[in-house]
Amino acid sequence: MPVIIRGKTLCHACRHPIGEGELIVSFSPFVTNAADPLHQFNDAVFHTSCFERLVLAQTARATYDAVRSAAEHRTCVACESPITSPDEWFGAGILSSDPSSTLARYNGLQLHRSCLGDWDGLSEFVSDLESAKQSGELRGPAVDNLLDELRSRLPQSAAR
Ligand SMILES: [Zn+2]
Ligand SMILES: [Zn+2]
Repeated sequence: MPVIIRGKTLCHACRHPIGEGELIVSFSPFVTNAADPLHQFNDAVFHTSCFERLVLAQTARATYDAVRSAAEHRTCVACESPITSPDEWFGAGILSSDPSSTLARYNGLQLHRSCLGDWDGLSEFVSDLESAKQSGELRGPAVDNLLDELRSRLPQSAAR
């Protein structure tokens, strides 16, 4: 959850401070891609009334709930075992809210960090991310961090 200081933290929609006793809606970081329309909800706090006026409010809520419930049952796509330690957890977050995008199938992807190098989907994932970045569909610091980590796990032959 983002840190909320009543009277100081600003509503992400109206940019006015969140007052004492006001109803709020808040989101932890869950959208990796800064180019996605849902990124406005990433790590953000809203007055409930401001939030409900936003066009994407329903989509944001549904996507967030799906991400949260998946995170309660963290299973690695490579070894199919549960991920028990937070330090071992690698999560792709939401890369695209557009179901027709190539990126959408990676939404919510979770692996053990130690399994990244063994995962047979790794090089395809990296090349899909790279082409989406080139086309402008994917951007932002969280994406760059993700790519750096993934590239470092590619087998030497594929990295060249
Ligand atoms: Zn507001
Ligand atoms: Zn694993």
